[in-house]
Amino acid sequence: MSAPVPHILVTGSTRGIGAAIVAALQARGARVIGHGRTDGSDVLGADLEDPSAADALWARALERLDGRIDVLVNNAGVFEAAPVDVADDVWRAAWARTMQINLQAAADLCRLAILHMRGRGDGGRLVNIASRAAYRGDSPAHWHYAASKAGMVGMTKSIARGYAAEGVLAFAVCPGFVMTGMADDYLASRGGDKLLADIPLGRVAQPAEVAGAAAYLALDAPASMTGAVLDINGASFVR
Ligand code: NAD
Repeated sequence: MSAPVPHILVTGSTRGIGAAIVAALQARGARVIGHGRTDGSDVLGADLEDPSAADALWARALERLDGRIDVLVNNAGVFEAAPVDVADDVWRAAWARTMQINLQAAADLCRLAILHMRGRGDGGRLVNIASRAAYRGDSPAHWHYAASKAGMVGMTKSIARGYAAEGVLAFAVCPGFVMTGMADDYLASRGGDKLLADIPLGRVAQPAEVAGAAAYLALDAPASMTGAVLDINGASFVR
């Protein structure tokens, strides 16, 4: 008898890394529902800045996937500047927004996934797209981004330790720079040649490379790997 087709929810799938993850999973035969800020043909809309949006998204995704989700990929995220010299309220609003979208919404979805998956005979998997910034830190205008991604890594490891016995596996991926926009614009916005000089591989990662790692964790990684964090950064930060 063949294994059942895995049912997968991928957040932030309208472009960039999320779109590549959906393509990689679909190429493997998975049944995938995507997500973005607003509804689309294969995409459920939910603005994750709204604290209740993750719960509503989970309920809708379950409905679309006939009541079964085997894998959750938390990929949605924002990378927005908050330099120290902005006004106090702007600073706090920037922190709240980044922590809500990058960490709280991902945590809410992980919680609902665990409640759904725990104790099922066949378990389930969580794949969280964090960042090199979790370990290395980020620019002076992006402490909140680094903190949100470090939180994601800590959350992933806690879930792996806490729910392995109940069949729920958890993994994180930490990309360095990933070419998600037009190459020239992307490089210019992140420091140009200086950025490349810091990457021994000599280039930034492609979305398909991150997607391949995410698909491996979602579908193939042995259960004993639970809690693992995969770095994809061209050796720009080796730990
Ligand atoms: P992107 O900006 O191209 O896409 C982000 C996705 O998240 C989009 O689908 C967008 O709709 C969704 N999203 C953003 N804010 C949202 C909100 N409020 N509500 C609902 N959805 C929202 O980003 P990307 O570069 O493909 O990054 C994807 C993930 O990878 C992010 O978590 C990011 O932090 C992480 N990452 C990216 C890089 C990089 O260099 N591109 C490096 C390390 C980690």
